[in-house]
Amino acid sequence: MKNVAILGSTGSIGINTLKVIEAFPKHFKVIGLSSFSNTSLLEKQARKFNPSYVAVVSDKKSKELDRALSKKNLKVLSGAEGLNIIASHSKVDILVVAISGAAAVYPLLAGIEAKKHICLANKESIVMAGSIIMKKVKRQGALLIPVDSEHSAIFQCINSSNISEVSQLFLTGSGGSLHRISKAHFSKLKVDQVLRHPKWKMGKKITVDSATLMNKGLEIIEAHHLFDIPIDRIKLLIHPEAVIHSMCEFVDGSVIAQLGITDMKLPIQFALTYPDRRKTPFQRLDFSKINNFSFTQPDIMKYPCLSLAMAAAKIGGTSTAVLNAADEVAVCAFLNGKIGFLKIPAIIEKVLVSHRFIESPTLDQIFESDKWAREESTRLI
Ligand code: NAD
Ligand code: MG
Repeated sequence: MKNVAILGSTGSIGINTLKVIEAFPKHFKVIGLSSFSNTSLLEKQARKFNPSYVAVVSDKKSKELDRALSKKNLKVLSGAEGLNIIASHSKVDILVVAISGAAAVYPLLAGIEAKKHICLANKESIVMAGSIIMKKVKRQGALLIPVDSEHSAIFQCINSSNISEVSQLFLTGSGGSLHRISKAHFSKLKVDQVLRHPKWKMGKKITVDSATLMNKGLEIIEAHHLFDIPIDRIKLLIHPEAVIHSMCEFVDGSVIAQLGITDMKLPIQFALTYPDRRKTPFQRLDFSKINNFSFTQPDIMKYPCLSLAMAAAKIGGTSTAVLNAADEVAVCAFLNGKIGFLKIPAIIEKVLVSHRFIESPTLDQIFESDKWAREESTRLI
């Protein structure tokens, strides 16, 4: 029986992780849960799973939750520090980092420091501070299993092979909600149109990123750090059927692909049970329903966010943190109806061009660049 803590348990990945844990009651016990401010759902989760610790970042909300759960035998932690306490707690065997955004960096580092088995869904942390994080993973000998479906696929394809035997990675993407819409229509796109993802059910921010292909750009940066492979050996393929979640080509010309249905519970289950595999109660791939596999190169002219991400990836340093922050602010403004769809890449480009670049930044410098990029993007909106 392994004790599992889920940071960000009220989000899309967090909820799916609890569904996987429910399916394996003999293997996993929930020991910690956290949320930014959604205490109503966190309270329900705490009553159902009986963790020893829950953390709420918002101070006021944590006091409310403390009162609501006063009869239960658990500790309510508050503030960002609560996340670090859970991440490094001696009773935690497996740490699931399902927080969105930059807030995941410090609890992730705390989990690595404490040598936890980490299931990492959050991608912003790696995009912002991948070099620092991966150095610490190596130094501590922590186990970092990716949950993002493409990276879970690559991890499974590489398996125990040496990375020097990998010639290139093929990261696949369905093409998002705008794959079949011509660029001529982009200036008039409505939010609900952009949010209609054909294959995956995800949060709004990542769904917009899938439409602009920024999500693929972020994933290339993520793969570069997680697997220590140069950016120019990671190729993006648009694969609208979304059955192959990514592929790995080896030096001998052999290509290994990972296939599955489009359900995040599968990579979550893999990350939780690693290195074992357990019989899944969830849906499986039905080959009788698949008629065709197709692959195309992404249209760079149609998706300027992808070119911006690739440029930032090649430059490295503080560029990827700036890219990530500007994208988060611009996407939020688009979702709130403050800017049109085409303004997203325009804002990111302006912020990237005007930022003060640092080649090998410290964590403090990364967070300073992140803060500056958020302020600058907000000013441009
Ligand atoms: P979400 O918005 O649904 O949930 C985010 C969770 O993080 C919530 O529990 C929220 O309370 C918590 N949170 C938000 N801000 C916080 C802060 N400042 N401090 C502490 N907690 C905070 O997000 P999601 O879709 O579940 O995605 C989580 C992460 O996983 C993201 O980095 C995303 O890119 C990545 N990811 C998601 C999917 C998916 O299918 N949803 C797939 C691949 C990768
Ligand atoms: Mg993904």
